[in-house]
Amino acid sequence: MAATLPYSGSNTNKKVLARYLDIPQPSDVVQVEYVWIDGTGVGIRSKCKTMDFEPMAPKDCPIWNFDGSSTGQSDGSNSDMYLHPVALFPDPFRKGKNKLCLCEVYKYDKTPAETNHRHTCVDAMEKTKADRPWFGIEQEYILLDNDGHPYGWPKNGYPGPQGPYYCGVGANKVYGRDIVEAHYRACLYAGVKIAGCNAEVMPAQWEYQVGPCEGIEMGDHLWIARYIMDRVSEDFGVIVTLDPKPITGNWNGSGAHCNYSTLAMREKGGLRFIEEAIPKLEKRHMTHIRGYDPTEGADNSRRLTGLHETAHINDFSAGVANRGASIRIPRQVAADGQGYLEDRRPSSNCDPYRVTELIVRTTVLNESD
Ligand code: ADP
Ligand code: MN
Ligand code: MN
Ligand code: MN
Repeated sequence: MAATLPYSGSNTNKKVLARYLDIPQPSDVVQVEYVWIDGTGVGIRSKCKTMDFEPMAPKDCPIWNFDGSSTGQSDGSNSDMYLHPVALFPDPFRKGKNKLCLCEVYKYDKTPAETNHRHTCVDAMEKTKADRPWFGIEQEYILLDNDGHPYGWPKNGYPGPQGPYYCGVGANKVYGRDIVEAHYRACLYAGVKIAGCNAEVMPAQWEYQVGPCEGIEMGDHLWIARYIMDRVSEDFGVIVTLDPKPITGNWNGSGAHCNYSTLAMREKGGLRFIEEAIPKLEKRHMTHIRGYDPTEGADNSRRLTGLHETAHINDFSAGVANRGASIRIPRQVAADGQGYLEDRRPSSNCDPYRVTELIVRTTVLNESD
């Protein structure tokens, strides 16, 4: 039913692990988990380094390397890739002084790796920082059993039709809340700006929101939130998919709505600036679509069908409170005359660096094709 996925190997007894994690960590060592985006542009990799002091900023962490031929990032004959630390978070898994260290990936010749979209995003955010761009991304995802079947669904059929599951409560409406709760608390511990979470329309589908974040922080915080989700679900022996439409038929797909504002939009009378951004976004619709998933729009075309609260991938539309539009102006924003807009097009497996970069380049820097 779902895409081919590997079986989970995570079935050890976590109570046994707890005995070993009870061994005191020597006070003069810190474990720093380096985290990066692999060659698929969706997958996340990490590896750990012992350090003899507690790093307080990314620059305290040394540049490191890894075997790019094993991550789809280089060929075997020239395989060393570089990890440049860019953001540091308290590690919710090891706790104490231990850290998660998000990295950008560079090739041996110091050029950014193909899937390093942070590099150009930083440039766009630098050029637009006077406009104070804020973002909030709603990350939708679906939990799968380790056989690739949606988590908690009957093995030989389907649950009842969509309707009772969105923001649902009760054992017959909610599938996998333990994982969601664990992820939320771990994100709060790590200092990720997680804004909330809710059960989604399809059973076993969930959403968490990260934001508002200013500039480059949006991508950094969302990628670490995704990493934490992968680790939490690994502990539970459950798989998270960011595929935008793993189940065909009358089941909702997953998006990553990007809420966006500049300082001018947030201030009194800001609705005028929100309205000014819309024709700019319309003119570059297909450019945005190509940047809103890792496959130039192919993945997203399975989701943006015009059904299930989406606009068709080839059509641009905007409207107040319209969840069938590409761009929605929330009802409250229209009423207040200030606030933000929601770009509903990004796919759940988008790279937030690409999405936020495109938005500021189009609406603030007035770039065109
Ligand atoms: P929806 O009604 O579409 O489900 P959510 O409540 O799930 O919206 O998500 C709204 C997101 O918008 C949150 O991540 C929040 O942080 C973000 N947000 C709120 N205000 C702003 C703003 N002024 N600019 C950008 N993002 C904002
Ligand atoms: Mn939402
Ligand atoms: Mn949603
Ligand atoms: Mn939304």
